[in-house]
Amino acid sequence: MQKIDSIAAMRAAATELTKSGQRVALLPTLGALHAGHASLIRLARARGDAVVVSAFVNPLQFGASEDFARYPRHEAADVAWCEREGVAVLFTPTAEEMFPKHFSTSVAEERVSKPLCGVSRPALFRGVLTCWLKLLHIVQPTVLVMGEKDLQQIAVVQKALEDLSLPMAILTGPTVREADGMAVSARNSYLTPVQREEALVVYQALKRAKEMVAGGVRSPDRVMAEATHIIGEKRRVRAIYIGVVDRQTMEAVREVTPGQSWMAVAFWVDEVRLTDNIML
Ligand code: AMP
Repeated sequence: MQKIDSIAAMRAAATELTKSGQRVALLPTLGALHAGHASLIRLARARGDAVVVSAFVNPLQFGASEDFARYPRHEAADVAWCEREGVAVLFTPTAEEMFPKHFSTSVAEERVSKPLCGVSRPALFRGVLTCWLKLLHIVQPTVLVMGEKDLQQIAVVQKALEDLSLPMAILTGPTVREADGMAVSARNSYLTPVQREEALVVYQALKRAKEMVAGGVRSPDRVMAEATHIIGEKRRVRAIYIGVVDRQTMEAVREVTPGQSWMAVAFWVDEVRLTDNIML
């Protein structure tokens, strides 16, 4: 496993991998690697791809009052995860090289990025796309790997790649959960045991929504009302949004289509902001 910090060395390594006949898959992450990231690495490796993982706490995607400074940084553990999972290159660029002082370009998708997280985190997707476009130009992968944990991110990136005629294929993997159903996330480390226990109510609400749809309910209002009610039972948990949306457009649906409509939730557990979703 190579660990590379500079853009020039990453470009050279990616060119070498491609020259040797390997298909390169890029998994962009914020680092603090966990079982969710590992499952995506395995998914790409199972197709025979050489996997490049970028671990970079991208300052552009955090709003001024968000957790950029506090976001967990575990470089030694990230190296160990990548070695264990057979990653070809762990790319850990510096903020100075990615976004030097007078960096003045940005990439924004203006439609799919607007609802859900686009409302409460207006800087998020512009920051993600600007960083990822730069990563794509550096690594030039054949495949871009993403997790369903960030469903809107998949939709936004897919739309931007289409709009800009970028040729990468997209490989997505399901959300990895703890034994009790809580979605694995680096931000779970912010939670106290009591907060962690209350946070689980969101997965219970999502599961209940899915059960209602399996039982024949097709009204988004009914499943959202039920989920809101379940989440409301926990004192520390407050929904930022609960949406029943189309996977591609992220627009609210009028009627639930099983397998195509998703329930997406963002919520506060006291001062910790988390997200989760489920296919209905
Ligand atoms: P992050 O480091 O949180 O930006 O995540 C990097 C990539 O890993 C994104 O494509 C996420 O959707 C994905 N990911 C994060 N958590 C999980 C999880 N629990 N299961 C599957 N994929 C995940």
